Amino acid sequence: MPQPARRLEVFTESVIREMTRLANRHGSINLAQGFPDFDPPAELIDALATAIRGPHHQYAVTWGAPRFRQALARKQSKLTGLDIDPDRHLVVTCGSTEAMMVAMMTACDPGDKVIVFSPFYENYAADAILSGAIPVHITLHAPNFEFDRMELRQAFEQGAKAIVICNPSNPCGKVFTREELLYIAGLAEEFDAFVLMDEVYEHIVYAPHQHTYFATLPGMWERTLSCGSLSKTYSITGWRLGHVIAPENLISRARKVHDFLTVGAAAPLQEAAITALEFPDSYYADLQRDYDAKRDLFLGYMRQTGLPFTEPQGAYYTLLNISSLGFTTDTEAAAWMTETVGVTGVPGSSFYREPEHRFIRFHFAKKEDTLRAAGEKLVEGLRRGR
Ligand code: GLN
Repeated sequence: MPQPARRLEVFTESVIREMTRLANRHGSINLAQGFPDFDPPAELIDALATAIRGPHHQYAVTWGAPRFRQALARKQSKLTGLDIDPDRHLVVTCGSTEAMMVAMMTACDPGDKVIVFSPFYENYAADAILSGAIPVHITLHAPNFEFDRMELRQAFEQGAKAIVICNPSNPCGKVFTREELLYIAGLAEEFDAFVLMDEVYEHIVYAPHQHTYFATLPGMWERTLSCGSLSKTYSITGWRLGHVIAPENLISRARKVHDFLTVGAAAPLQEAAITALEFPDSYYADLQRDYDAKRDLFLGYMRQTGLPFTEPQGAYYTLLNISSLGFTTDTEAAAWMTETVGVTGVPGSSFYREPEHRFIRFHFAKKEDTLRAAGEKLVEGLRRGR
């Protein structure tokens, strides 16, 4: 028999998604894969019902339905102050999962090095390997998830073609300061590298932290591919709507990758999502207030477990330090939590390059009742221990 591609031997399927299957098998509360258990705004569901009855059943323009692109360009231009042209500066993708893959394949040739911070959202290493690029990991050091500037500089000196930054960051909750981003921008300029931004949590940032759009930093628009998504902002992870925003010379290439990967995102869903992109500013303030409350509620339970945990500055994850529980690996700990405590998280090792078994990642994009039920089980179960 022929041998299937060797590049597929070096990574596994997503552990995040595997944990969802495990939670479902055991009827455990799923705080593993980050998605809400509440509905998107009713207005958006109505817009979808209308769109489905309308004439949107064939392919949309491959790089995005014109009205959707116009609405998206308006929203992101207003937020960033950049003048984003819907015809020249963006590609609509099937979620930011595709957007990041498109960005990677637009920036990198096989053999190119790409810097990925560790811990990292597990897709990035797989994206690099699938596009033939070589991930070079730079550690974000717990508990504050800072990076060593000299180490990062050396990675650029050794010829990195691109750097991936998730900001606000999954899984560690870091919101990069403007000063940190300016340092990275300086390196990108000096060593002529691309910056691949994953900004899907742009609207979930806890005060006093503030999100800086990387493409708005001096000189950075030209070399940044900004990936975003509607999944988290509008609680529609199943709609699979994402985007890449970049200057025209990069978008014209990104379109080619996207065209041959997926042809396009679902036409009726793009049509419906225009409604979301036109929500007033108060929608985003309400979203933030909701996540402030979820974060406070869930972290309150984390505190009661008596174990150390990260306080996210943005996004909706916390890393619980389970080293005192005495498990050999975090995978073993996550299985025990699922089977015995009744709450499922993601073993932190799936976000790390280095052997790191101290953490379980939980997310709190859930209804208050779900968070209370999970929180009570965790407090009880972790205090009791094995
Ligand atoms: N971003 C979410 C997480 O980290 C969901 C990932 C996914 O399954 N696409 O859990």
